[in-house]
Amino acid sequence: MNIQKYYPLKHLTTFKIGGPARYFVEAHCQDDVVRALQFVRHNGLKLFILGGGSNVLISDKGFPGFVLKPCLKGFEVIKENDEHVWLKVAAGELWDDVVSKAINAGWWGIENLAYIPGHAGALAIQNVGAYGQEAGDVIEAVEVCEVATGNHKILFHDQCQFGYRTSVFNSSLQGKYLILHTILRLKKNGVPNLSYRELREFFTEKDIPTLQELRSAVISIRRKKLPDPEQIGSAGSFFKNFLLAPQEFEQLRQNIKRSLGHAASDKIQALRSPQAEEVALIKVSTALLLDLCKVKDWHVGGAAVYCHHPLILINATRQATAYEVLSLVQKIRQQVYRHTGLTLVPEPAMVGFEEQELRAYFSFY
Ligand SMILES: Cc1cc2nc3c(=O)[nH]c(=O)nc-3n(C[C@H](O)[C@H](O)[C@H](O)COP(=O)(O)OP(=O)(O)OC[C@H]3O[C@@H](n4cnc5c(N)ncnc54)[C@H](O)[C@@H]3O)c2cc1C
Repeated sequence: MNIQKYYPLKHLTTFKIGGPARYFVEAHCQDDVVRALQFVRHNGLKLFILGGGSNVLISDKGFPGFVLKPCLKGFEVIKENDEHVWLKVAAGELWDDVVSKAINAGWWGIENLAYIPGHAGALAIQNVGAYGQEAGDVIEAVEVCEVATGNHKILFHDQCQFGYRTSVFNSSLQGKYLILHTILRLKKNGVPNLSYRELREFFTEKDIPTLQELRSAVISIRRKKLPDPEQIGSAGSFFKNFLLAPQEFEQLRQNIKRSLGHAASDKIQALRSPQAEEVALIKVSTALLLDLCKVKDWHVGGAAVYCHHPLILINATRQATAYEVLSLVQKIRQQVYRHTGLTLVPEPAMVGFEEQELRAYFSFY
């Protein structure tokens, strides 16, 4: 295990932003993880676990502690019956490789999650989701190493408390565990999940798409809408969507009508399905709110709103700083709050910032 000092992090992230880590190590096996955590404890260091770096914004000053990158490899069927396989994947596997292998084997359940950047170890953290599928639907258990003790533990599905872009790992138990392996329960005979309109429309000509066809469709849609991390730096969607109770939704509609007019309010109303009376929570697309609030061409220095998708903030010049991204975030949040009364919640992990720094950017009341 090779612990390095003042290790540059920006190239380990898809945003290509951020300063160095005071200490950095790649852990290639469980022993490496245990020894790295001992080093962290003995030296009283702060710890950050970095996967593929596709959902982080790292401070320009870097991280003043220990960055541990789990690089464990493994893709193994640990159990199967007539209907399911139980697949154990190690934290360091590239997520899209896992999807691709599962599809080649004919297993259903993660095909709509194709082409999402990052490592398998981060899958459970924010309950990764796309095109009508969520990781939590197929995660049976997560094998973890407890940061405080180095002990090995298993958390089963119900203990993970998956919700929209949340789990215990990014809420109540944040920072407590390093995920070593994730156990997925996949179906041997599945049916396509075409609940997402864009994906459904892709197949108007066909009856039942195959797994391979679904993967190709998802990749094609994603390529059109999202920046290629190799070409344009970003952390994917910067803000979460909203899930609003019917009264909150009505309040939002009224606010938008008052501030942005009837046409805008009608667009919000259209999000409500005819069965909405029975729905406890209504999903409000933050991309739509950003469109209505006209933030499309906004930028601060090298940080900009992506022209094909307003939820995505990009490193447009390849030289944007975290400071510029946060200044843009602050402007956008103020604009959205002014017109809608809603407070945008960022999705990526903020790494290496001081509390007061973040408070300054994220509070504006
Ligand atoms: C172009 C683009 C498109 C994207 N599309 C989607 C999408 O459709 N849906 C979606 O949900 N997300 C999407 N994302 C966000 C991101 O790809 C996912 O959240 C991904 O799962 C993050 O994985 P990562 O390995 O890069 O994690 P990182 O960014 O390295 O880390 C993210 C968080 O997970 C923690 N973490 C990582 N690995 C571990 C581990 N082994 N143990 C404990 N904690 C860990 C980190 O500490 C951090 O808090 C997109 C990002 C980009 C750049």
